Amino acid sequence: MRLILLGPPGAGKGTQADVIKKKYNVAHISTGDILRENVRSETRLGLQAKTYMDSGKLVPDDLIISMMKDRLQQPDCGNGFLLDGFPRTVSQADALEQMLGELETGVNAAVLLEVSDETVVERLSGRRICDSCGAIYHIRFRPSSVNGQCDKCGGSLYQRDDDKESVIRSRLAVYHEQTAPLIKYYEEKGLLRRVDAEKSSDSVVRLIAEIFG
Ligand code: ADP
Ligand code: AMP
Repeated sequence: MRLILLGPPGAGKGTQADVIKKKYNVAHISTGDILRENVRSETRLGLQAKTYMDSGKLVPDDLIISMMKDRLQQPDCGNGFLLDGFPRTVSQADALEQMLGELETGVNAAVLLEVSDETVVERLSGRRICDSCGAIYHIRFRPSSVNGQCDKCGGSLYQRDDDKESVIRSRLAVYHEQTAPLIKYYEEKGLLRRVDAEKSSDSVVRLIAEIFG
């Protein structure tokens, strides 16, 4: 399985990827997670990416594309992968096609998680992340049992800086302007699969499973 999870920030890509990767034993590649790790450890890439991320803008294509060239050649991708947050521009999608072509492979599908802008704002403003294992919670839709503490590992939950309402609005605008054109891009290639991601997390898992059997 080589899958792209497409959709606005907050659509539920990371939440779904966590379930799908276990079910199909494939690598989960989140460009946002890789970039945040680079910011944390203050690598050259992290320092270059930080200002863009803080303001909700996209990190330049050349940085992302060379990062993904490395990542897709790692051995854990051999059994398949889930791309979460990449590609985000038509140039990135073209580069992905070229990278996979060189590896003599391609993607099976681009699953579009469809949600309204209001849902995005509600989901992102209530999102909390475990600072230790990265588990994803929501203050209303998926609260942890003990306030502020991860159920899986006991780590502390935090709110991402870019999940504040002012940045959420610019991330949404960036999505509509630069990423939404990928819907048509994958539709024309016959790879697009639409999923109603307004539904509960468990229902969305089922809808995606129905696509792949
Ligand atoms: P993305 O990776 O697309 O940015 P996440 O998977 O991090 O999105 O989900 C964003 C927020 O919405 C999280 O707080 C998550 O718990 C919550 N969430 C995800 N899917 C659903 C859903 N189907 N219904 C309600 N809340 C959801
Ligand atoms: P995410 O975790 O997917 O919400 O991404 C967080 C931030 O990382 C985005 O707002 C961008 O600044 C940056 N980012 C993640 N993936 C990409 C990408 N494919 N292209 C450009 N920027 C990205």
